[in-house]
Amino acid sequence: MSWSEVIGQDEAIATLQAAVADAEKLTRGEPGPAMTHAWLITGPPGSGRSLAATTFAAALVCDEGGCNQCQACRTAALGGHPDVHVEIPEGTEIVLDHVRPLTQMAAQSPMSGLWRVIVIEDADRLNDRAANHLLKSLEEPTPHTVWILCAPSRDDVLPTIVSRVRHVGLRTPEIDEIARMLIRECGVDETTARFCARASQGHIGRARALATDTATRERRQQCLRAPVNLRDLPSCVSVAGEVFDAASAVADARSDRLDAREDEMLKARFYAEGVTRLTGAMKRSHDAEAKDLAKDQKRRRKRLVVDEVDRVLVDLIGLFRDVLIVQSHAQAPLINEELRSQVEQMAAASSLEQTVRRLEALEHERIVLFAGGSPRTVVEAAMVQIKDPSVQSVYAR
Ligand SMILES: [Zn+2]
Repeated sequence: MSWSEVIGQDEAIATLQAAVADAEKLTRGEPGPAMTHAWLITGPPGSGRSLAATTFAAALVCDEGGCNQCQACRTAALGGHPDVHVEIPEGTEIVLDHVRPLTQMAAQSPMSGLWRVIVIEDADRLNDRAANHLLKSLEEPTPHTVWILCAPSRDDVLPTIVSRVRHVGLRTPEIDEIARMLIRECGVDETTARFCARASQGHIGRARALATDTATRERRQQCLRAPVNLRDLPSCVSVAGEVFDAASAVADARSDRLDAREDEMLKARFYAEGVTRLTGAMKRSHDAEAKDLAKDQKRRRKRLVVDEVDRVLVDLIGLFRDVLIVQSHAQAPLINEELRSQVEQMAAASSLEQTVRRLEALEHERIVLFAGGSPRTVVEAAMVQIKDPSVQSVYAR
């Protein structure tokens, strides 16, 4: 993980790098106005706000200000650094019980480095009680603790919190910037890079997954073909089942990779060379950490399924936006240029009003999904409403 992976955000990176440089001055007792103890990083989904946050966190705990090589940099990126905690909420709300351990952590001195960094992804999900509890910690900062909150926009966070943090805004990266990154980092050719960049609709993680992971590309293709295979209610249910299974397979594969890396890191921390069995306090401490890790991993696994199902909805929204472009004779490039003939067929076979209703239904299902709706049911409801846009969602509107 390094700043070069944060694509198209030169201004934000400059701000955060200046902060890292000044953070070092502060620890020597010199003034460092570019650094402060609480940050809010905002940006649309996929713009790289959590990557920017964790890169910033790693740079603060690295002796070299983010060398991308040392133990601190590597472990901070993977969630294995004792002074870096990344809170990834699973549900729709971050409640007081989630925040209390974080403020306790914030009150402690760093274990190994000069800073203790706590990242809260999706700070927009803090409920009022949790936010007010956090506010106290932000108002009376401990000298070596840094909070980094992430949210889609400033408006999504309580004004009292916004007034206590320094704001760094990310923008949606351009297609060209994403394509160049894919050529450089994933080694794909220009045509593939441009296709993946367009298909990602500005979401860097999605672009990277499309460029490197066959299962992700297949999942996307299958999902974009789905609307033409919906003949009746039973076919909606079976197509939805296939699309959902493909999406959860992609999410599970990603979870497996992340889990394995973390399990290995935990093992490496406790089992010194030649040690085959832990005993006493060492064993208790290992078991406690392993239990916490397993809990976090389970939460993340669920969340990755939600994210992947959201991608299904976003891909379908992109497809119907293309249909709308054709139906309204707008002079705009299609997201799915390679599917132009399918898009034109869909446009000819339906009315503009139906397309608008389908888009509304898909947007609504995204809301249901993030409000905690079952991902499989959401995909089914989406397919039923694509088949017949006059049907209402199974959830009341
Ligand atoms: Zn480093």
